[in-house]
Amino acid sequence: MILKSEPSAIAGFLEDTSNLKNGWTPGVFFPETPEEVASLLASAVAEGRRYTVAGNGTGTTGARIPFGDYVIAMQKLDRISEVEVLSDEKALIRVQPGALLQEVQAKAAAAGWFYPPDPTEKTCFIGSTIANNSTGSRSLKYGPTRNHVQALKIALPQGDLLEIERGQYFADAEGRFTLDLPIAGRLSFQRPGYAMPLTSKHNAGYWSTPGMDLIDLFIGSEGTLGVIVEATLLLRPAPEQVIACLAWFQSEDELLDFVRQARAGSGGVSPRALELFDRRALEFLRQSYPEIATETAGAIYFEEETTAESEDTCLEAWLALMERCGSPVEKSWAALDSEGLQKLRDFRHKLPVLVNEWLSRQSESKVSTDMALPDERFAELFRLYRDACDREGFTYIIFGHIGNAHLHLNILPRNREEFDRAKTLYRQLVSEVLAMGGTLSAEHGIGKLKSEYLVQMYGRDGIMEMVRVKKAFDPYLVLNIGNMIPKDYFE
Ligand SMILES: Cc1cc2nc3c(=O)[nH]c(=O)nc-3n(C[C@H](O)[C@H](O)[C@H](O)COP(=O)(O)OP(=O)(O)OC[C@H]3O[C@@H](n4cnc5c(N)ncnc54)[C@H](O)[C@@H]3O)c2cc1C
Repeated sequence: MILKSEPSAIAGFLEDTSNLKNGWTPGVFFPETPEEVASLLASAVAEGRRYTVAGNGTGTTGARIPFGDYVIAMQKLDRISEVEVLSDEKALIRVQPGALLQEVQAKAAAAGWFYPPDPTEKTCFIGSTIANNSTGSRSLKYGPTRNHVQALKIALPQGDLLEIERGQYFADAEGRFTLDLPIAGRLSFQRPGYAMPLTSKHNAGYWSTPGMDLIDLFIGSEGTLGVIVEATLLLRPAPEQVIACLAWFQSEDELLDFVRQARAGSGGVSPRALELFDRRALEFLRQSYPEIATETAGAIYFEEETTAESEDTCLEAWLALMERCGSPVEKSWAALDSEGLQKLRDFRHKLPVLVNEWLSRQSESKVSTDMALPDERFAELFRLYRDACDREGFTYIIFGHIGNAHLHLNILPRNREEFDRAKTLYRQLVSEVLAMGGTLSAEHGIGKLKSEYLVQMYGRDGIMEMVRVKKAFDPYLVLNIGNMIPKDYFE
């Protein structure tokens, strides 16, 4: 197994998209088999090493950045199996964690199948999307990555290789799991007793529900309980056709009414994606798309799956809904084929790219949220963010997954004073969203940047319940320490 320690080879592993600085590592291991990952972990205590697992560095929370730990890089574990068809409705694909999400999707598509999870950033590794329970615009219809994972092989911190099939291990009536492992011996632990928020997207802390499946504890655990070394994913038949459209609005109230009616299926619509661009997000995009009208108050991007027979009826239902909500049909940007669809997706992806370009010209980092509320409260979340930022006079944008009441607020400070005020506002918004029954993170996870807020979400007792789960698997604290659970909770 290759170990690299020269500065030029390891520099890339000291960053992700979070702007977290000062990471350092004595070296990066590139295992080529699950057994090599397990053997690194098995010898961690004897070698006096801790490890941080690295995917492809698109994470936003500093989770893969080491602070003195060795890095286990997933790059070389990148195999993707052929599609295994189980029935007309169901197929499986086996992947190693370092395969790119877009390559898994392409391989499924080439065989006529479909892997729904679609984080906007396609260059992430598939293993990381499982470790982070990633979601995307299609999660409105298909739910998070969790719903599409059938089995996992995990290298545990003491060196065991655990294979879990969905449906194999459940928490007992008291919420306890018991596992017998060759190296670690008997592991017996209690799932955390906290109640999770009633949001449709949630990726903050360990998953915990009555009678839960053990596989769900690992999904979204941000690499703190083990390294995913293989996964079996569920595929669905590819939709025959997809229509997509950007609908423009001249008033925010009409836009929000459109979302409300679309979510309710008004007139027969059935969206698989409902995404917001607020007025300021469109101002950013106008740099690349000057054709965006200046009087626009916001836009909604939607997708629906159709067939040749249903396409006309589907389009009519959407056009009628747009008319009812004051969106000028003739000005909308519609896509009825794959080329058009790609253009609209490029439009969506362009927004974070432009924001990052803008930030690279500033001295300050952005302050951004990944919180969500229960679905029906999407308008409250939008107004909460908008009103607070307007009061503060910030430069900001609001965009994202409005169908799941999951909006990204990006505050773009122009100087240190604004940055400090933005951080203060962030703390206030966290308190308000949690008090409204929301989640701290819907998809990006906690990583190193948000662990203090996780304490706010679950309280000291909730964090200590997570610590007990973590220590059951990782008693010598060798893996992804500093992620999700604040470090001082281990002292
Ligand atoms: C422009 C942009 C758009 C984005 N859009 C979305 C979006 O729509 N939805 C969304 O959910 N996220 C989104 N993200 C966040 C990010 O893409 C996801 O969190 C993604 O899953 C990270 O993948 P990565 O391979 O880059 O992981 P990294 O950043 O390298 O690592 C992320 C975490 O995963 C852990 N990890 C990696 N591999 C493994 C493994 N095999 N076993 C255990 N733990 C592991 C790491 O330790 C770390 O904690 C976006 C990011 C950017 C920059």
